[in-house]
Amino acid sequence: MTYVALPGRPGPRTGLLVRAGPSPPATTLSRVNAPTSSSRGAATGRRATAARTAAVAAADGPPGTASGETRTALVRRARRIDRILAEAYPDARCELDFTSPLELAVATILSAQCTDVRVNQVTPGLFARYPDAAAYAAADRAGLEEQIRPTGFFRNKAASLIGLGQALCEHHGGQVPARLEDLVRLPGIGRKTANVILGNAFDVPGITVDTHVGRLARRLGWTVETDPVKVEAELAGLFPRRDWTMLSHRLIFHGRRCCHSRKPACGACPVARLCPSYGLGPTDPELAARLVTTGPGGAE
Ligand code: SF4
Repeated sequence: MTYVALPGRPGPRTGLLVRAGPSPPATTLSRVNAPTSSSRGAATGRRATAARTAAVAAADGPPGTASGETRTALVRRARRIDRILAEAYPDARCELDFTSPLELAVATILSAQCTDVRVNQVTPGLFARYPDAAAYAAADRAGLEEQIRPTGFFRNKAASLIGLGQALCEHHGGQVPARLEDLVRLPGIGRKTANVILGNAFDVPGITVDTHVGRLARRLGWTVETDPVKVEAELAGLFPRRDWTMLSHRLIFHGRRCCHSRKPACGACPVARLCPSYGLGPTDPELAARLVTTGPGGAE
């Protein structure tokens, strides 16, 4: 792949690099901002202007921003991307089925290295058999393992569910707590799972840095960090707190459907014009459109 430095970018520290090659095209998925034939020339002009503006901003920008933009430019671009994703994925939500904080906690534990679709196939029977924390605490290990076997890593997951039930009964009256510091002390629940529970079961804003969110945050030039806690902190600084949960859903939707790990569908991407990684995947609209999926994808 070929990169070109935008004009006015003297060195790699401040230089925002964009891929050489064709401009981001319009496709079905990229209906937001899709250029018409009459607007294409103007759009090209706007892109050039934006590139020049970004170049100037980068030359003045502080070190440390992933893309070399000024902080203000980075925040504006990040929030614009989120607005476009909100239009592209109006139905973005947690794709695990649940009706209570405990069910969400259990489903999220089961979703490790497993698709949400598979988890949703297993949980109806599981939730019926284990209706509360006490039921998990007293579960027969072999029986529980057998029931969750389709989700993979079933021995570890069964141990986590039994431990979770016991901890909830011993320390929280059988209820799932609504505080991050309490949640992360529970068996099987790390920071990522805790944020899923907080955001979706308790309406407490949280940024869930799973594999999709981390990958997209780096591709979009929002961070260079790979540690999920650091990525979470960087994203928290770019977006209002009230948007954190939905931002996570939109990024996960986009990562599952379009910005795939191995072959992102750049030519069908609604945020292509704002993405410094445009060209990482096929840019041909027809080729890219074939890569776009319509439902939940791979495991996290
Ligand atoms: S890498 Fe490609 S698919 Fe992913 S956000 Fe950027 S332009 Fe879109």
